[in-house]
This record gives sequence, C-alpha cells and structure tokens, in this order.
Amino acid sequence: MGRTANRRDRIGTLPPRYDFILNPHPDVGFTRCARCDTRTNVRKLPLVIHVEGFGLVLLGKTCRLCLRCDTLVAHKAELDRLLRAMVSVPKLEYVVLGTVNRQVYQRGLSGHASLDDVKDHMADFKSYWKVDVTPGGWYPKNRNAG
Ligand SMILES: [Zn+2]
Repeated sequence: MGRTANRRDRIGTLPPRYDFILNPHPDVGFTRCARCDTRTNVRKLPLVIHVEGFGLVLLGKTCRLCLRCDTLVAHKAELDRLLRAMVSVPKLEYVVLGTVNRQVYQRGLSGHASLDDVKDHMADFKSYWKVDVTPGGWYPKNRNAG
C-alpha cells in the first residue's frame, strides 16, 4: 500500500484528523488496520463528501477506525450506494474530504447547516492511503507481528 497525493486545498477550519483509506474491495473487512495491524473499531462518523456536479454532502457512515494510528477506513461500495440514493448525477465521482462535528451534521440533516457552518466544524483528513489486495486476500506487511 502507499500514500496517495494529498490534496492541497484544505477546507475545514479544525486541525486535520485521521489518515483515510477508501477501500475498493467489498470482501475485505479491515477488522485489522492495514497500516499497523491493530484491531480496528467500528465507528459511525459524519463524513463530508464533495460530489462532482453536485457539491458537498454530509453522510453518516459506519467506518473502521484504528485508534492506534488514527486510520479511518470506509468501504467504497457502501459509499457509492448511499450517495446514489442521495444525489442524482450522471456519473458518480466524489472525494471524501473529512469529518464534521456531530451537531453540525444533525443540523445538516434538517437542512439548517450552511456551508460556512460545515467548514467551521470540519476537519480535513491528514492524508490518503490506498491498499492493494492480492487474489488470496489482503495481508498486512508485517505478518509475523502479533
Ligand atoms: Zn493502525
């Protein structure tokens, strides 16, 4: 796995948080962290997503979080499905930008969150990572550890 190019245009006011992995492999659950092999926790977090041709979407999404190295993993297939139900664009292209404060997310659900509101309470991701899965399954780099 490797680190992908970082976005330079920070949006959120809060300090960047979490290293983010968009997992394109539906059959890989990431019960262990792809980076440090620690058991991950299930967390539902309000994500801020920029959808091409639509704009910002706030989406409460169940993710995997590694508390040790602060890596957050979201399933691409699940995100695709949730986003398709929310926005209608000819071709779904999006970037998950970061996480937003839960109160703002709640306001957003009822249509009361402004763009500034979101920006003021949003933390961009620190970095983006991608994972490679071999045909036999995904293995952490340090298989002998633990
Ligand atoms: Zn980790």
